[in-house]
This record gives sequence, structure tokens and C-alpha cells, in this order.
Amino acid sequence: MRITGIRTHVLLDPGFDVGATSSAQDTIVVEIDTDEGVTGIGETDLNAWIARACIEAPGTHTMDRGLRSLLVGRDPADVEAIWDELYVGTCMTGRRGALVHAIGALDMALWDLRGKAEGVPCWGLWGEARGDFLTPYASLQPEVSSFEAYLESMVEWAGRARDLGFTAAKLEATFSGPYAHKGLSGPDEWVVRVAREVRAAAGPDMTLMVDAQYAFDSVERALRVAEEIAEYDIFFLETPLWTDDIDGYARLAAASPVPIAAGEWLSSRHEFRELIDRAAVHVVQPDIGRVGGFTEARRVCDMAAEAGLIVVPHAWKTGISVAAAAHLATVTPHMPFFEFLPAELCESRLRKDLTVDEPAFADGRLGIPARPGLGVELNRTALREFEEAAARVA
Ligand SMILES: [Mg+2]
Repeated sequence: MRITGIRTHVLLDPGFDVGATSSAQDTIVVEIDTDEGVTGIGETDLNAWIARACIEAPGTHTMDRGLRSLLVGRDPADVEAIWDELYVGTCMTGRRGALVHAIGALDMALWDLRGKAEGVPCWGLWGEARGDFLTPYASLQPEVSSFEAYLESMVEWAGRARDLGFTAAKLEATFSGPYAHKGLSGPDEWVVRVAREVRAAAGPDMTLMVDAQYAFDSVERALRVAEEIAEYDIFFLETPLWTDDIDGYARLAAASPVPIAAGEWLSSRHEFRELIDRAAVHVVQPDIGRVGGFTEARRVCDMAAEAGLIVVPHAWKTGISVAAAAHLATVTPHMPFFEFLPAELCESRLRKDLTVDEPAFADGRLGIPARPGLGVELNRTALREFEEAAARVA
């Protein structure tokens, strides 16, 4: 089998809001075509136009090649070897950041392709299923701009998530710092109030996580919040400090009564190596696309296992990323939950409409993916509409 072409689709939710902090509003989807008529689909999470440029740009010398030109004409079967070729072949521009994120979409598509070619789900290419079902958690981020409305929505959404069968939910509680969503701004006490009120409404059995999204500018501030939310039985506190403050994370992780989680923006296992070796987190959170695809995400899972850490991946995108997380969770015993943006509880039309036939979700559980590859079908009508919306802003 040979790769004959790569199609890149830059997609945008026509109702996107530039004031929102939600990368589920746009995406890049890649399709890798072959001479045997099998096509692989992948997605990643970064500026979709930059991702397309990373894939389509040509190269003129051996250490700075184009991703597309490295792939076209190649046999797609040995995905891990291809990862290394892409990483090394683009290293003068890449090695970290956008290039590695873009490799993530291609790597995901190559695993999808291989699964389809062999007639097995992606996870079946890596090992045995660790159980009969998967446990996703619901990520909740109300789209409102006053704290009162936010708190009311969050309590209501947590209740709806529980009614949908979710046993775990993450509260995006960010009222300061660079991620302050929809202009919401307020004291750290608000984070504590959100944890308290959702816990009171959800009852003792639901697993609750809190995402501070880089809100705190000091370890002391983050620790104070961690200490105050601890009594509400919080499973982890996500990204309390700026991503580059590894010293701060190490100090915080050593002192916090609530486990600390981070890693959603990191690219390649090398960035996770530092986080893990310095004991900067308790919960490792690769985004499968951004870290460099399944190949690299699986290496990070292995590193976490060796260090005795759990993995709870980031996935805030379309049904493609949801499927990707489900495949990884199927074979990863130290992944108790994975992020799941429920179509019913999100605003993004990309999340709702881009893919059809998601794995069935019921009673807090997702079935083990059964179809070959990722098992994702694109809704071509929606794809065209989202592509046109993206073309209008470019
Ligand atoms: Mg987050």
C-alpha cells in the first residue's frame, strides 16, 4: 500500500465567538489517501491554519522537509517508524510546538488507516482491552459572562451530566489569568464556591475535578485554593500554574492536598519527561493530537506508568478526538477517566455535528470501540459547511 495524497480540512463553527476560550470552535481534520482506496482520518488541536501550513509547506533540505512530501509515496504500515522520520525530517522547524501537534493529526490518521487496512480497531493494534467499558468524564464550561449565571449553569450542568449517567465531571472554574472565559473575572474564593456548591448539588458519589486553567500567579495562591477545595473531595486540580513554571508545579505537587494535573499543551514525550522526572504532577494529561499522536501519547502513558502516575488525557475537540481518547483508554489501565465533551452539554457545532455514529454512551459508560480503525465517519455536509465558514475568515 502507498500513500497517494493528504487532504487537510480547516473547519470553523459558523457561530464561533472570539471572546470564548474554546478550541472546540475550530479544528483541522486530515485525510490520508492510499492507492488501495483506504483513507485514514486524524485531528489535532492548534490554530488550524498553522496546522495546515505545517503539513503542506514544502522543504528544500534534508533536515527541514515538508510533512506531506515525507509521506506521499510511502508505505503507511510502520507508523512508529514514520513518526520518527517525520520528527527528524522536520527538526529544524519542529521538535516541539506546532510541528509536533501537526504530526499528531497525521499519526492519528495513519493508525486509523492501519486499523482499517487490518480490519481491527486502533486499540487492537496495541494490546488487549483492559475491561468491558470505559469511563469518560464530562467537561463543563458554561458559556455565560456573569458569576451568578455561571454558578447556576454549572450546578445545573453537573446535574444534567449526572442525569446522563456521568459518574465524573470537571468544572472549568477560571476567574482570573489568561484563560478567563467570556470576560468572567473575580476572586479565588469563587473557585472554592463553585466546588462547594456543585459538590452539595451533585452528592458525595460523583467524582469532581476542578480546572483552574493557569489562573494562579504564585504557588502560594494555588496552594491556598487547593487547601480550601480539598474538603469537597476533588479528584484533581488542573493547570493551576502557568505551563512553564515547572519549579512551581514541583513545589505545589509536593504540598497540595489535592492531586495536581497538567500537560495538555505539551508536545512530545520529551516535555513530559521533565514534568514526570521533576515530580511536578500527579496526573499526566497529554492531548493525543498535540503530544504528537497515538505513537507519542502511548510513549507518555508508558512513562507515567513507570513513575506510578495516572493519565487522564485532554480532549476538547470533535468526535474524532473523543474516539481517539476512547481507543487509548481501552488499552491503558492507569487511565481511570478521559475527557469527554458531551455533545448535549457543549456549544460547539463541530463537536455536535462533524462525526456520526459515536460509541454508545449510557449509564456513565462508553462501549469499547468495535469498528476498524478509529471507527469515525465524517458528516460530509457538515464538513463542507464548516470548511466554508473557515474560508470566510481566512
Ligand atoms: Mg484544561
